[in-house]
Amino acid sequence: MVYRDLGNTGVRLSPLGFGMMRLPSDERVVTKMVRDAIDAGVNYIDTAYCYLDGKSESITGRVLSDGYRDKIYLATKCPVWLIEKDTDFDRILNEQLKRLKTEQIDFYLLHSLNKSSWENVKKFGLLEKMKEAREQGKICYLGFSFHDTYDLFQEIVDSFDEWDFCQIQLNYLDTKYQAGIKGMKYAAEKGLGVIVMEPLRGGYLANVPQTIQDIFGKSKTPIEGAFDFLWDMPEVGTVLSGMSTQAQVDENIKYAERSSVGMLSEDDKKIIEAVTKEFKKMGTVPCTGCSYCNICPKKIAIPQSFAAYNSALLEDNFEQAKHQYVDWVPRFGALPSNCISCHKCEEICPQHIKISEYMHKIHEFFQE
Ligand code: SF4
Ligand code: SF4
Repeated sequence: MVYRDLGNTGVRLSPLGFGMMRLPSDERVVTKMVRDAIDAGVNYIDTAYCYLDGKSESITGRVLSDGYRDKIYLATKCPVWLIEKDTDFDRILNEQLKRLKTEQIDFYLLHSLNKSSWENVKKFGLLEKMKEAREQGKICYLGFSFHDTYDLFQEIVDSFDEWDFCQIQLNYLDTKYQAGIKGMKYAAEKGLGVIVMEPLRGGYLANVPQTIQDIFGKSKTPIEGAFDFLWDMPEVGTVLSGMSTQAQVDENIKYAERSSVGMLSEDDKKIIEAVTKEFKKMGTVPCTGCSYCNICPKKIAIPQSFAAYNSALLEDNFEQAKHQYVDWVPRFGALPSNCISCHKCEEICPQHIKISEYMHKIHEFFQE
């Protein structure tokens, strides 16, 4: 495996990090996938308090037993939106250490900062609390993950001299979205390590329609193209992938092993440009399938409804997508026609999608 510098931390990370967010249900399979990745040189494992309804950290703790914990850097995140009183930060951190079966978390992030959660950070003095936790040896490197505008990103970077790293959404479709490339460069200039999430936009850039496949041709697979686009940039410390199958692990490791800064040829860059243009014409919804919105009081299958809608636009095959909508979406919850426009989902969606508007639109779309 090759390794890359993470900002000014002195830490060198594998180009690929393992995101513990979209795991298969069989824990023996998860154990093999994660340990195979570590044996191949992957040295960054990323989880969060809320992933898999709170189960991801405990699974991670078990998977990293038998000496695997000592081979990697372990990252997890503080659910800022759940902090409601002064003692919550320490209570949650202590619970995380127990779940993860570790005495120290190497990389600790304030999770999914946006305008409203940043206010909570200030209200409860979470930056000071992070520093105290570091002095107590419970955490080591301090960072945040981010989903909001560039201006807020800059404000957060500038507000605290002790950030070691940040985690941003980046892929070839989102270069000017949220922190974007501008944010990545700003953070890197300030010495922060940059960790990239959503390199495949929740699988959207992996399962591409034929028109996009045709543009890639035989040069690269769409997944390879998406990863290489990121690894080409010197500022990128590692790229997280929420791998769900052994095949994905094997494929991604193969790509990571031969990655390097400046790896894209002029032809590769032209292909990515053409693919980006083609995708933008399709007008799909930028849902990453993260499922944070499954707090809907009407139990609407929001990500699956978006998947069916996007599939209709991407594949230009209404009948097949309608089949998906009618037969597959209800297995996960209610249909969009049940939306009461309460906007609860929109408060939490990291992509700031106007979900309720889309629910009505999708309902009408498939009614036709
Ligand atoms: S706006 Fe609609 S989809 Fe969103 S939480 Fe409310 S009912 Fe559910
Ligand atoms: S609608 Fe938003 S919160 Fe829900 S799955 Fe998609 S990106 Fe995640």
